[in-house]
This record gives sequence, structure tokens and C-alpha cells, in this order.
Amino acid sequence: MKKDVTLKAKPKCPQCSIEGVEYISSIDSAEKSNSDEPWFNIAYCNQCGHIYGVFNKIQLQPIVQYHNLKEQ
Ligand SMILES: [Zn+2]
Repeated sequence: MKKDVTLKAKPKCPQCSIEGVEYISSIDSAEKSNSDEPWFNIAYCNQCGHIYGVFNKIQLQPIVQYHNLKEQ
């Protein structure tokens, strides 16, 4: 028996109960890094505005590298 997961498990908004990926939108943050990249994305329901999650776009690198620590 073939399992069809995609038909049974649509993304569903917990707030307005609408179902389907077409209702999930994402926007870039207004805050920008020095290189003019958005810091994060916001995924939200475009029917009621419920926020599903916030995702980092910029990966911060450690300022002090490991080999610098060894030399000190
Ligand atoms: Zn919603």
C-alpha cells in the first residue's frame, strides 16, 4: 500500500486554520548587515499574519580564530 504523505499533511496555520503552502509567505528583515544583506527571514501566514518562525540569513563567524588562540 502506497503512503501518500503529501496529501494528508498540508501546512496548517494554528491561528486561522487555513491549510496549504500557498498561504505561507516570507519577508526579509528590515534590519540589514554592513554588506546590505537581510539579517533574517520571517515566515508567516498571509491570511492572518501568524508568524511560523524566524530564520537567520547571516551566519556570524567567530572573530578570534583557533590558530590565533594557540599563538597567544
Ligand atoms: Zn493564519
